[in-house]
Amino acid sequence: TKQIYNFSEGSSQMSNLLGGKGANLAEMTRMGLPVPHGFTITTEACHEYQLRHNLSAELLQELDQALDSLSTVTGKKFGAAKDPLLVSVRSGAAISMPGMMDTILNIGLNDESVSILARLTGNERFAYDSYRRLLAMFGNVVFGLPETAFDQILTDIKKAKNYDSDLDLTIDDLKEIVSRFKEIYADSDQGEFPQDPKEQLLAAVNAVFDSWNNHRAQIYRQENHISEALGTAVNIQEMVFGNFGQDSGTGVAFTRNPSTGEAGLFGEYLINAQGEDVVAGIRTPQPVSVLQVSMPVLYAQLLDTAKKIEAHYRDMQDMEFTIEQGKMYLLQTRSGKRTPTAAVRIAVDMAQEGLLTKEDAILSVEAESIAKMLHPEFDPEDLKKHQVLASGLPASPGAATGQVYFTSADAKKASDQGIKVVLVRSDTSPEDIEGMIASQAIVTSRGGMTSHAAVVARGMASTGVVGAHDLEVDYDSKTASVKGQMIHEGDWISVDGSSGNLYLGQIKSRDAVIRGELSQLLDWAKQTARMGVYTNADTPKDFQKALDFGADGIGLTRTEHMFFKSERLLQMRRLILAENKIDRQDPLLKLLAMQQGDFYEIYRLAAGKEVTIRLLDPPLHEFLPHDEKEIAAVSQQTGLSVEKLRARIESLKESNPMLGHRGDRLAVTFPDIYEMQVQAIMNAVLRLHDQGIEVTPHIMIPLTNSKAEMGWVRRLVVNKIEETMVKHKLSMAYTVGTMIETPRACVVADEIAEVSDFFSFGTNDLTQLALAFSRDDVASFMPDYLKKGILPADPFQTVDTQGVGQLMKIAIDKGRRTKPNLDIGVCGEVGGDAASIDFFEKIGVSYVSCSPYRVPVARMAAAQAHI
Ligand code: ADP
Ligand code: MG
Ligand code: MG
Repeated sequence: TKQIYNFSEGSSQMSNLLGGKGANLAEMTRMGLPVPHGFTITTEACHEYQLRHNLSAELLQELDQALDSLSTVTGKKFGAAKDPLLVSVRSGAAISMPGMMDTILNIGLNDESVSILARLTGNERFAYDSYRRLLAMFGNVVFGLPETAFDQILTDIKKAKNYDSDLDLTIDDLKEIVSRFKEIYADSDQGEFPQDPKEQLLAAVNAVFDSWNNHRAQIYRQENHISEALGTAVNIQEMVFGNFGQDSGTGVAFTRNPSTGEAGLFGEYLINAQGEDVVAGIRTPQPVSVLQVSMPVLYAQLLDTAKKIEAHYRDMQDMEFTIEQGKMYLLQTRSGKRTPTAAVRIAVDMAQEGLLTKEDAILSVEAESIAKMLHPEFDPEDLKKHQVLASGLPASPGAATGQVYFTSADAKKASDQGIKVVLVRSDTSPEDIEGMIASQAIVTSRGGMTSHAAVVARGMASTGVVGAHDLEVDYDSKTASVKGQMIHEGDWISVDGSSGNLYLGQIKSRDAVIRGELSQLLDWAKQTARMGVYTNADTPKDFQKALDFGADGIGLTRTEHMFFKSERLLQMRRLILAENKIDRQDPLLKLLAMQQGDFYEIYRLAAGKEVTIRLLDPPLHEFLPHDEKEIAAVSQQTGLSVEKLRARIESLKESNPMLGHRGDRLAVTFPDIYEMQVQAIMNAVLRLHDQGIEVTPHIMIPLTNSKAEMGWVRRLVVNKIEETMVKHKLSMAYTVGTMIETPRACVVADEIAEVSDFFSFGTNDLTQLALAFSRDDVASFMPDYLKKGILPADPFQTVDTQGVGQLMKIAIDKGRRTKPNLDIGVCGEVGGDAASIDFFEKIGVSYVSCSPYRVPVARMAAAQAHI
């Protein structure tokens, strides 16, 4: 099979075969954009290479042909001494892995051709600058010589001559650098730098194929769930030279701001520089907007190209360009990595500009990433009390506080010990990826908005500030200083990724609010979704949060959580410890008064939105004191002797509380508890009724197993409701439904539906019972099941579609056979999980209910599932 494709033969559809970079170089070539000529060796060739560890004879033959045709179109000849063709050898996997694999520029130069190039172009400085770059890149990537060895020589010479930047290097300096670089080769085990261009090229191709398996690429793939099997393609492309002089340069541009999403060209460039210089943060680049003044024609061309590319891909793009003697070339485009904030803004803007449909806009934002937008921001009051230590560029928004570490390894180690870490560096390279993952925030003293640190921080939605020039990092002493102010390893600092400010010490943060484009996108999602999104809220405070985040109402109020507050706990304990109905009366009355207050508050907040209240569920034993000190205190409070108390606690002890006296079983033995709760609900409803607010109570019974059981409890509840209505001479609508959380209930759901007005799946209990996985004990074995691939995901986090999911499907189908319009919710943990929500859409769940912070995520996921 064909293993090499010319750029003119491929397209963006072919990214599996050509890698993302190759496919997009082909696409841009087809669009007629100025892309230097070249061709791509396929990922299939990479697979073969991985098996045989060398390049096949067929591939070598194809390569010769491809080089021949490249010579024809460029009019230069690879390996020729006269007008030599120089190429780059660039890696590019199907899924972009920025900076993770290797690229070598200026291949084809050697001792002879460098002087020819100098003569032909009349630009000796450029020729030797290109050669020294080739020597350093080739040495590092192909021969594994340390990058620092090459950097050190550069630094030494600049220091000796008192130069600020690489641009100050003279022709003689560059010649000196070239010869010292060659000494590094000579001193190594690898031998001399190969003078034969063909040998350079083949070694570079091998190295790129090998780079697929280097350590940092593996880590990146793990972190981003990229398959090991994909492999990388190799692009071989004619060089264009941004290092030719003052009329040349290289840059990176995003079609929109990747941090905020703001429309308009956003990027950076360096005059008289090549390739990696911008991303590596070697010199701090200038914003592309400066081009508008210095090279207005080029700027207009870049702007025009950006528009064209964005409209073509219908997505924000991240482009690489190079200017050679005033002429612009495009070297790469890809979907731009962006912060969640930017993703949302871009989606909404593009929909409003007509580039995307609302559906496409919804699909373009990863549901899970919305959670990251709800990260806290610094409390403005507390912020005022802190002085800005230093400022840099706001590379990735967010507010983070942590302890300072200066190396990736130290950051990782500290984070493994549970320390909140801020990684502070002069700049970062792909080797730092592990430390960045482990950190709350990344701070660098050098580099721009498109530097490695900035790109990676945005990609991880981690807080980032880059280019904080006042910060001087000293790795040897593990300190940093700002105008004399010292920062040591372990010191606390706070990082504001939205303003770019750094502060000493810890600053309080507060929740973000939903506004602007996010609010718009969530509105569209709500209009688009079929399923409703409710919240699990036990207190008015939780509920308010969920309402702020757009919840449709409450899908689950767990009344027991209201009992854990101290005054209530006492009454609850008196209730449980009472030995007969008479003794239970007083605590029940006290609890009644308190519960009705809570319910009133929640109904009032709901302002007409639906609220489902679940009656008492946990084993009573949970409410009792456990250690001696507590027992003594409770004995005092209740007037019960310690002995009696102990005996009672003993008698309530169960060996399997989760399978014990809990849920509606409590109502079967102590009907007065549920009666009290229903009365409290009714009292709240009546009070609101008197104020002219009508509420429909939805009462939910936990843990039922059968029609007989549900029927019995339902009667208890309904009697209380009816009795209250008669007493107050009014009639109102109400519903009494059940949780479906045992496998038996799923199987007999048709019968249970006869006595139930709605269902709500308690997926936590259902999963626990279906898999026989005790929720409280899984920690001892779950990690092994996940690591060894026996479970695809934690079933308490993502629904087990094949088992638990099928039980749910049975229950839904059977329930709706009895009542076609039966309302069916999900209120377990998985109700806020995007993958699970996709499944619930398919089996006909009516709504999900999740914790307040998950509401926006669930809303997006519900819309995406329905599109
Ligand atoms: P990465 O995937 O790490 O970005 P690239 O293959 O894109 O690696 O190349 C690294 C740098 O070299 C980029 O800035 C790119 O624009 C530049 N570059 C690659 N090929 C050429 C070329 N043929 N001419 C000029 N610059 C190039
Ligand atoms: Mg690139
Ligand atoms: Mg339950």
